Amino acid sequence: MKRFLLITLLYIFSSYSFSLSSSFANTEESTSLLGYEQTYEKEAYGQLPIFSATNINNISNKDLQLIKKSTTNDKNYLLNVNKTTKRLKELVAKHPDMLSISNIGSAEGEDLYKIKISSTSSSNQIKRIAITTGVHGNEPITNVALIKIIEEIIHRSDLQKNYEFIIYPLINSYGLKNGKRRSKTCKDLNRSFTDGKWSQISTLLAKSIRDETENNGPFEIALDLHGAIGKGIFIIKAHDNDKKLAQEALKFMNIDNLLKSKDTTYPAYTSNETYFLHSPGEAVSFNSGTLKSYFDKLGTPFCYTVEYPVSRPLDKQITLLTQLVISYLNVSSERFDNDNLNKQ
Ligand SMILES: [Zn+2]
Repeated sequence: MKRFLLITLLYIFSSYSFSLSSSFANTEESTSLLGYEQTYEKEAYGQLPIFSATNINNISNKDLQLIKKSTTNDKNYLLNVNKTTKRLKELVAKHPDMLSISNIGSAEGEDLYKIKISSTSSSNQIKRIAITTGVHGNEPITNVALIKIIEEIIHRSDLQKNYEFIIYPLINSYGLKNGKRRSKTCKDLNRSFTDGKWSQISTLLAKSIRDETENNGPFEIALDLHGAIGKGIFIIKAHDNDKKLAQEALKFMNIDNLLKSKDTTYPAYTSNETYFLHSPGEAVSFNSGTLKSYFDKLGTPFCYTVEYPVSRPLDKQITLLTQLVISYLNVSSERFDNDNLNKQ
């Protein structure tokens, strides 16, 4: 009996070590390809912001109202979806000449909104920028930063001259209300913009984006705002070649605030191997069915996911995300002005 047990144990051990070594070999193989033929997909889970007195020190009372303590875990923040929706509607009501909001329908029992910031130019040369927030419910800060971004744009005549903005806020309302990455029907919405993966929400949103594109031409830039664990902000490009738009936008950020590789050489994987970095803050990934890949499919030349650093204090999360989006708008608007000058 003892002998039988020993043989069984030996057999279990040998098959275990075999499966260990074969899966290790796979990992090594994928790593050596530096991500380009990466076939597996790691699901990056976010992390809710931590609720603490020091974390909220530098946040204005007005912005503080947009977040609230989680009822299931009082260490975490959730977005106050009702108050955020109210703030957005108030902002629109205050600036009816520039802003408008419409309800594009309801999916999974939640309303979906579209906010438009009109261009001040009547020229048909203006370009269109799409901004999307709240795709992942456990990344609430994208919606707080969005309000700051809209407030900045409506005070910037240079941006309004060149661009019309179409904004889809609070996309995964259920997830935001409950601090969950996925939607009510357990869909990862940032993987559901492709055949076989469609969800009610991605179908409704995709239709609105497609209608916008068909009626008014493709978007020039699409920025999908997210958050990821870590202390550095970064963007994920849809293409290797984006005419260095991302690099230029990142130049205006303090390098200490950008996501870096482990040994600060490039190109390289991030330390959790989820992303591949071309330079500090400049990443690519090969997840399919993302919202940015949908914009890409519709002919948007510059598509990005922008990831704020979840492990930084809350005020930093908000300001870094706002800064990087504004930096994108500044850099692309300057390019647009230069192109127009060269044409004259
Ligand atoms: Zn996300």
